[in-house]
Amino acid sequence: MRLRATLLTLLLAGCAFPAVAQSSLEAHIRTIPWERYQDQAVRLMQDYLRLDTSNPPGNELVAAEFFHRLFDQAGIPNTIYVSAPGRGNIYAILKGSGALRPLVLLNHMDVVRAEPRNWKVPPFSGEIVDGEIHGRGALDMKDEGLLQAMVVLIAAREHLLLQRDLIFLGTADEEVGGTGSAWMLEHHPELVRGAEHLITEGGDNLKYPDHGTIYGIGVGEKAPFWIRMTTPGRGGHGSIPIADSATHRLARAMQRVVDWQTPIRLLPSVEQYFHQVAQLQKEPRASQFRNIRQALEDPAFVKALTQDEDYSYLLRDTVSLTVLKGSEQTNVIPDTAYCELDVRLLPGQKPETFLAQLRAVVADDRVQLEPLSSFRTPNASPTDTTLYRIIEQVVHEYNPQALVTPTLNSGYTESQMYRPLGIACYGFAPLELTPELDSTQHAANERVPVEQIRRGVKMLYEVVARAANE
Ligand SMILES: [Zn+2]
Repeated sequence: MRLRATLLTLLLAGCAFPAVAQSSLEAHIRTIPWERYQDQAVRLMQDYLRLDTSNPPGNELVAAEFFHRLFDQAGIPNTIYVSAPGRGNIYAILKGSGALRPLVLLNHMDVVRAEPRNWKVPPFSGEIVDGEIHGRGALDMKDEGLLQAMVVLIAAREHLLLQRDLIFLGTADEEVGGTGSAWMLEHHPELVRGAEHLITEGGDNLKYPDHGTIYGIGVGEKAPFWIRMTTPGRGGHGSIPIADSATHRLARAMQRVVDWQTPIRLLPSVEQYFHQVAQLQKEPRASQFRNIRQALEDPAFVKALTQDEDYSYLLRDTVSLTVLKGSEQTNVIPDTAYCELDVRLLPGQKPETFLAQLRAVVADDRVQLEPLSSFRTPNASPTDTTLYRIIEQVVHEYNPQALVTPTLNSGYTESQMYRPLGIACYGFAPLELTPELDSTQHAANERVPVEQIRRGVKMLYEVVARAANE
């Protein structure tokens, strides 16, 4: 999934952070032959990108088999779960002492389709051009999947001490239906039950040439709640207007909906986010962001923020009017009309509560409101966990100037399916990208710098090695 993290007009770089205490793992990490593993990671990244797992149809089994061979060679227990012809998930586990609850590394193996004629090199070539590995999935999220597999592989080969089980889970179909994870949770919930932490996509780390780097750790997502509004009416000839026709009634209802300012609700992680990014703002915004709760009592500030696309969606359920349908012909008044609303709810919001609010805004009994899809309750993970703290620490060791902040994603990630099991789930990718490079996800010429793969494998290993022992 292509996710939009909030960003920002950046004004200046971050601040200094305290040094991290020496860890007993440091010696272990120092003895690892990184050069060799980094070379291997780059080679395997190219190989992995050459597997066409465009979804539809997916065909993720080829990717599952790729990981299966890799894990088998390293003696890592793993199983492929075939969920449908050509489709499946792969699960691998390194057993820990059991003193702590498991850590899951989750990645989806499917990618969105690619239109080759828009690409500089074929989208499934894995070619390296000017220090960048090109291929569909290079950022979403075969990069992270491959890095997760490498981390498990290195942990096994280098005999990393584990106080928790380390689980690798590669899934099918995230980009279309999410059926891979859904299948696993329905048929084999025991495989992840009891896990404490999970790392997957949904984090975005963007570097701005003049303004420093922001590591956005995905802690929650909004949930889609799509709604169709339908109006019945009397049909007729367009030359004889009907004041109360289906289309006229719908237009009036739509006007009320698009003018509606949904209530503001400040989530703890969003409050934390504003507090963190305050240092990148000019006054008076810096002070307002630092004390966002108080600032939101000022109607002028609320109005300004509501008009700011980067921030407004973080504070409220949102409504986008997208589909419109009335007559097929200009001179025909239809006997029914409808529109569709892409509604996104904040974590904690109940769909029935939102629907009741929307009904009150529409204020017309003849306008029918009908949810279009089954609803998945939005959720979020807290930031006061061991894993979140470790991610922050490791990031600052790699980039002391970076700002690390929780982010709420406007889109959906698989974390939503795993949080109800009591697992703290985070979107974290150990890469730093320019906004330009980041925007190639789901677009032409998707690519990842070789250097980021080399750096990322070590960085993710450090996160996982610590998290497996703290
Ligand atoms: Zn994705």
